Amino acid sequence: MTIHQNLIDGEWTGAEAIENINPSNTDEVVGLYARANADDARNAIAAAKAAAPAWARSGILERHAILRKASDEILARKEELGRLLSSEEGKTLGEGIGETVRAAQIFDFFAGETLRLAGQVLPSVRPNIGVEITREPVGVVGIITPWNFPIAIPAWKIAPALCYGNTVVFKPAELVPGCSWAIVDILHRAGLPKGVLNLVMGKGSVVGQAMLDSPDVNAITFTGSVATGKRVAAASVEHNRKYQLEMGGKNPFVVLDDADLAVAVDAALNSAFFSTGQRCTASSRLIVTQGIHDRFVAALSEKMAAVKVGNALDSTTQIGPVVDDSQLKQDLDYIEIGRKEGANLAFGGERLNRETPGFYLQPALFTEANNQMRISREEIFGPVASVIQVKDYDEALAVANDTAFGLSSGIATTSLKHATHFKRNAEAGMVMVNLPTAGVDFHVPFGGRKGSSYGSREQGSYAAEFYTTVKTAYTLA
Ligand code: ADP
Repeated sequence: MTIHQNLIDGEWTGAEAIENINPSNTDEVVGLYARANADDARNAIAAAKAAAPAWARSGILERHAILRKASDEILARKEELGRLLSSEEGKTLGEGIGETVRAAQIFDFFAGETLRLAGQVLPSVRPNIGVEITREPVGVVGIITPWNFPIAIPAWKIAPALCYGNTVVFKPAELVPGCSWAIVDILHRAGLPKGVLNLVMGKGSVVGQAMLDSPDVNAITFTGSVATGKRVAAASVEHNRKYQLEMGGKNPFVVLDDADLAVAVDAALNSAFFSTGQRCTASSRLIVTQGIHDRFVAALSEKMAAVKVGNALDSTTQIGPVVDDSQLKQDLDYIEIGRKEGANLAFGGERLNRETPGFYLQPALFTEANNQMRISREEIFGPVASVIQVKDYDEALAVANDTAFGLSSGIATTSLKHATHFKRNAEAGMVMVNLPTAGVDFHVPFGGRKGSSYGSREQGSYAAEFYTTVKTAYTLA
């Protein structure tokens, strides 16, 4: 098998390789991927630093053309890349291809943004002086990504970084290097000058840490766990660098008595269990008012029983395997914790066997949970959700907001009054009415508040806030 290497200063390099394993079939090696060390990371940072001044001055048409080409190639190869994604991460083929299309759309969006860079011209408060406000690149951007969206998250960080004229050192999650390698290869062949985009695949504690410790990384954008996010924050404060964090969620989905039951059940099923519950926007707390509670639980359990869990590459599969053995252990541990805490395991929660050896788990639904239980407070990151019964809307809103996190918050209701109140009062960066808490557009801001996120928003034109620094220039006329 050929080794997919790291890209440092325009050269493919690296011999030591690790196997990328398919979670739907652990006998299958998806590919061999080089493992970078701390020196590789430092070389990549030096290359990005050296390439930064010229790339910052590059023409917008050059940047536009490269991002457009990348978008076109990703789209043209959506079946192949979607299959690679599903093979390395375990989400279904439909989800894998959908995510790949989204990556193409993101590159297309930011190709367009290169042509829309603008500033402001204002009169000074002093006579005969003009003021210009412009945006400039930040410099070297460090990008650290998690395993759960192997192509979309790299895309929504790399595309704006390049669009606004930054150079990049990119470290993908160790579990899923395949899609990251593919988009770096595409961008490299699309004509990026050497050193502008560097790929260092490897361990967080080695490669990621070397990025955190470098004074030459001017900004770090991170998506991953709360624990690592705190390290990124501490190191970034130390170096006085810009940083942006997207971390956990414990997203609520409220179902009111007046909800359309079918809409509520479909949204809950999707939010809680699709993509194997491995989305930071997944809802793991289903907060249901008493008048609809029993009907909701019965209808959701019935739907869950009909869902097909299996090999991600089988076209009839609706929920793929858990990503690896340690995540599966975490999910099963939490199911045990929920039982011991006194919640009722109403459906699922068993490990499943399929034709190929993989990390298959039947989605689990707890009822009779309360919001103080660990299963209601800690992020599980698997297909595990709890139903918390409440008296009325006011209690539902209070429970929904009673969490350390604040990424996405959903409600199922036919009441305009409650929908409007919820949109205003949900303590989350994103609010969904009669929709799953997961599933967002690529052209509008993404991000949360409280313990979920730190820094300015990702995606859409709001991304400019992170990937640029503002300059205010005064000129005497
Ligand atoms: P999860 O694996 O649950 O998504 P992590 O925070 O462990 O969450 O991983 C997210 C990303 O952060 C991965 O690319 C990982 O390699 C990286 N990472 C882990 N530890 C460190 C660290 N000490 N410094 C920098 N990056 C790290």
